[in-house]
Amino acid sequence: MAQAKKKTVKKAAKQAPAKKAAVKQAPAKKAAPAKAISAKSGAWTKPYIAKPGDPVRIGVLGGSGIYGMAGLTQQKWRKVSTPWGDPSDELLFGKLDGAELVFLPRHGRGHVHSPSEVNYRANIDALKRVGCSEVISVSACGSFKEHLPPGTFVIVDQFIDRTFMRQKSFFSTGMVAHVSAAHPVCHRLGDALEQAAKDAGITAQRGGTYLCMEGPQFSTQAESLLYKSWGCDVIGMTNAPEAKLAREAELCYASVAMVTDFDCWHPDHEHVDVASVIRVLLDNASKGQSLVAHAVKYLKDRPAHCHQGCDTALENALITAPEKRDPKLLKKLDAVAGRVLNR
Ligand SMILES: [Zn+2]
Repeated sequence: MAQAKKKTVKKAAKQAPAKKAAVKQAPAKKAAPAKAISAKSGAWTKPYIAKPGDPVRIGVLGGSGIYGMAGLTQQKWRKVSTPWGDPSDELLFGKLDGAELVFLPRHGRGHVHSPSEVNYRANIDALKRVGCSEVISVSACGSFKEHLPPGTFVIVDQFIDRTFMRQKSFFSTGMVAHVSAAHPVCHRLGDALEQAAKDAGITAQRGGTYLCMEGPQFSTQAESLLYKSWGCDVIGMTNAPEAKLAREAELCYASVAMVTDFDCWHPDHEHVDVASVIRVLLDNASKGQSLVAHAVKYLKDRPAHCHQGCDTALENALITAPEKRDPKLLKKLDAVAGRVLNR
């Protein structure tokens, strides 16, 4: 019984129940009806090319518990079509603190897509396609560290990718590319999030390693102890393929992992009551939105180029000889690699 009870509790921790999740959804009344912005029927949405002087457009990927964005004005949900299939949901366009923001609920409104089934390529492509230059990921996670209790945030800077059932690259036969993933997140965005956490009064650790597991089941205790012995800080099911795809798409990407519970390694935290777990999840979701809102002011004045080179990641990455490239694949790369392919 104790085991069964624990399983239920843990599931609740990282997968927001639809009933509770609905609390955080943007009110249907305020959202305008979905409007496709495809260039023509049956084609994918035309890539948006930012002009000099255009305001920065910030993409936000919301994880479990975050299905809308508090404070977002002029909200409009829009369908965006990509060559990689449908994103998790329509994208929510709006303004926040003077900046343009595009929000995408990673699991869809109502939490319909499991971590293995999220179309990560479509999500990243869609954000790039509509003109986002930076992407902030906000998601729930488990903790491997005593000093990172529930309610703590980690501004992740490294990943260990243990996923195996996902499409993790935009490139394949006909157009091979190898980008660097040595430093998979953007330090400029990390700086903004660190400062925003201070401003918002949120306890956040700068830096940390995120173990990305396939799921949907949570770790066995042996796995949990193994990952802890590797020095990982937090565990989740979504961020690693996302960060790598963002790099391929030349987007600046940063991840905030919000601790919901200690993973099952902790001897004193094996039995947690559902109410407290749900409370942490909802409290984190609220704090996560506050963090994004506070970060916007540090991201409004985007430098011409990312000092870390996120926006030029494909510069020397395309390997396939021009005469051997697959025209069909090149067409699908119009948003992701348009900068290097169309010159
Ligand atoms: Zn960057």
